[in-house]
Amino acid sequence: MNPNKKRILIVGGVAGGATCAARARRLCETCDIVVFERGQHVSFANCGLPYFVGDVIESEAKLLVASPDLFEHRFNIEVHTETEVTRINRQARTIEVRDLKTDTYREEAYDALVLATGAQPIRPPLPGIDLPDVYVLRNIPDSRKIKAATAQATRALIVGGGFIGLEMAENLVALGLDVTLLELADQVLPPLDAEMASYASERLRANGVELRLGESAVSFERHPERGLILHTSKGVTLNTDLVILGIGVRPESTLAREAGLELGELGGIRVDSYMRTNDPAIWAVGDVVEVKNRVTGQWQLVPLAGPANRQGRVAATAIIHDFSCGEKEALPPLVFDGVLGTAVCEVFGLTVASTGASEKLLKRLGKDFEKVYLHPGHHAGYFPGAKPIHIKLLFSKTDNKILGAQAVGEKDVTRPIDVIATALMQGATIFDLENLELCYAPQFGAAKDPVNVAGMLAGNHQRGDFPLANWDELETTPALLVDVRGPDEYTRGHIPVAQNLPLESLRDRIHELPTDRDIWLICGVGQRAYYAYRLLTQNGLRVKVLSGGMKTYQAMIWAKDAPE
Ligand SMILES: Cc1cc2nc3c(=O)[nH]c(=O)nc-3n(C[C@H](O)[C@H](O)[C@H](O)COP(=O)(O)OP(=O)(O)OC[C@H]3O[C@@H](n4cnc5c(N)ncnc54)[C@H](O)[C@@H]3O)c2cc1C
Repeated sequence: MNPNKKRILIVGGVAGGATCAARARRLCETCDIVVFERGQHVSFANCGLPYFVGDVIESEAKLLVASPDLFEHRFNIEVHTETEVTRINRQARTIEVRDLKTDTYREEAYDALVLATGAQPIRPPLPGIDLPDVYVLRNIPDSRKIKAATAQATRALIVGGGFIGLEMAENLVALGLDVTLLELADQVLPPLDAEMASYASERLRANGVELRLGESAVSFERHPERGLILHTSKGVTLNTDLVILGIGVRPESTLAREAGLELGELGGIRVDSYMRTNDPAIWAVGDVVEVKNRVTGQWQLVPLAGPANRQGRVAATAIIHDFSCGEKEALPPLVFDGVLGTAVCEVFGLTVASTGASEKLLKRLGKDFEKVYLHPGHHAGYFPGAKPIHIKLLFSKTDNKILGAQAVGEKDVTRPIDVIATALMQGATIFDLENLELCYAPQFGAAKDPVNVAGMLAGNHQRGDFPLANWDELETTPALLVDVRGPDEYTRGHIPVAQNLPLESLRDRIHELPTDRDIWLICGVGQRAYYAYRLLTQNGLRVKVLSGGMKTYQAMIWAKDAPE
């Protein structure tokens, strides 16, 4: 070993670790770069695993983004798979490494150490949880086991209604299994607000998934005739052939803890904006670290591939810079500046995406916020094939800054969320959204793009041009509810206490409305109610519009009825 050569050792060879290794090599030809990976594969696509189980991705080889061979020959990076790092000796700057194939130990010295050890699926200590056919999904061997089990199975039970649970539900249904999904919360996709997540619940049910909300797993048991049995918190016994646990992950921070590195309250490693731990020779990236939320300022665990990749890049840059001159000021400002938690998931053709803070998080933190709902088409309505996107935008009441957004629909849902996420990163306000100039032709977006409309609704509300009523107050408001849709639409379904006064007859029947009482207007999505609002306020009436109209009302009803 050349003593002048710097040695970078990386623990974990998937999203964060592999990115860090490749970037370090691009920046430094002379360093020794060595990756240690406990599993059989490096740089594989965990995100594709549910689709491999469901045969959408047909070949396992497609999951392998890069092989140890490619790392060695293209990048001159040494990769040791089936090799576990078991201890860090910070004083000596060495690690203890165990070769799992030979069960032998050795010491390796480092100048810089990167912990990219990821996260572990949570397996709560419930009776029977270690029975065969109770699975988690984290890596390729896990997916092989689940795939093999599905070949013999007709029923599957998924515990947990997060992204992985929903993706697995879709893939197992596609394989012909009867799927039941259990979720402790009274909604799926807990990071979203309940009414937005309810679209996904409805889609799951419509595709034959038995959704059991507000119910958790208590114990598992193997029965000679009935197969695998799960006992739930509601005293129900469910029979199944296999169980998949998708109840979240916890950071794989044991090495760091045992080495005395600083951890946060959530169990993740604490790092600075260069991804450096409290030991100047040790960095950490990916699911194993805690990150600051850019909206709330709070420490958070965000186990997503995008942050892991970007953090790997930041750490590599900081390490190489440290080696060459030790002057951080000379660096281009490559730092990791917190997360928004921008995420997306598809379930049975419905895409659910979100960025920033949810309403429930803002409420929990006692933040002052305002919200608007809208249901525009994903492109101009006159062009064939337009599909609605249900959007919720959250913003600050006081400084009009965007705080978060959620969107659900069949087409092009990521576009508005990505645009809003970009605006959010820049600290934009709702007025900036009104003015964004975005792509439009009939088959793409609209002359008033859904993102513009979200900004316009919010802007109109804040300026007092279009006061919105809050759905949360519907049951307690003394206001008169007036539904301005046509009689046919009203007959097909309406809010019980709302009276019907169609927009077209409003001018003739305006005398029927009280001048001394608040009036809340309702229509399909909010547009006709807005026209009615303009008409009525100019006649001196006290009017507000229920944001998002009956479409939002329906989602609220689904969310409220969920646990039954
Ligand atoms: C099924 C599934 C679907 C997902 N879908 C998405 C998605 O659609 N979008 C998205 O953004 N994210 C998704 N994710 C999350 C994403 O894959 C992770 O956030 C990302 O992989 C984190 O990268 P990482 O490098 O921090 O950790 P990991 O990818 O977990 O890699 C860590 C590696 O470190 C190894 N390791 C741990 N300890 C040691 C040790 N002591 N010695 C040696 N090696 C060790 C582990 O074996 C592991 O391979 C999904 C995850 C899963 C499991």
